[in-house]
Amino acid sequence: MSLPAGCAALALGGNIGEPARAFAQALAQMEAGGAARVLARSRVWRTPPWGKTDQPDFLNMAALVETRLSPRALLDLCLDLERRAGRLRAQRWGPRTLDLDVIAFADLRCGDDRLTLPHPRAHERAFVLAPLAEIAPALTLGGRRADALAAAADMTGMSVDEAATRIVRGF
Ligand code: ADP
Ligand code: MG
Repeated sequence: MSLPAGCAALALGGNIGEPARAFAQALAQMEAGGAARVLARSRVWRTPPWGKTDQPDFLNMAALVETRLSPRALLDLCLDLERRAGRLRAQRWGPRTLDLDVIAFADLRCGDDRLTLPHPRAHERAFVLAPLAEIAPALTLGGRRADALAAAADMTGMSVDEAATRIVRGF
C-alpha cells in the first residue's frame, strides 16, 4: 500500500538536548504554519547509536502528515525545522538535535541529489521501521510492508520510551 494523495510519512530522530521536545516542537511548528496537519504519531523509541557508536542513545519516532506542500517544499520545511532546532551538520551519522526525514510521500517515486522517495535507507533501519510500523503497517517500502520489515529488523537494544511518548503526544 502507498499513502493517500497529500499524505507523507516522516521519521524524526535526535540524541542531543531533549529530542522528544524537539519532535513535539517541530510537529507543532509544521501545524502552526498551516503547512501540514499531523494525522498520527508513533510512540517514541530509544535506540542505541548506529554507524558512529561513541555517542548518546537516539530517540526516534514517526509521524503521518497531510500536507498541501509539494514533496520538495516539504523537504525544505523539514531541513528548516532541523536548523531551527539547532542542528549543525558537523559529521555524517554524528550527534544531532533533530533529524527530520521524509520516508514516503503519497505513491511518489523519485530520486535526485536532493530528494529520494521513498527514502532509500528507511527499509533497512530498525529505528525507522519500528515506529513507522505502528502508524503505517501496510505502507510498502522496497516492495515489502513496514510491519513485515519491522518484524524482520534487528531491534537489539531498542525500547519504547513512555515518558518521551507522553511529551510528543502532549499528555
Ligand atoms: P540522514 O538523514 O541520512 O542521516 P542527513 O539528514 O544529513 O542524513 O540528510 C542529508 C541529505 O539527504 C539532505 O540534505 C537531503 O537533501 C537528502 N535527502 C534525500 N532524500 C531525502 C529524504 N527522503 N528525506 C530527507 N532527506 C533526504
Ligand atoms: Mg536526514
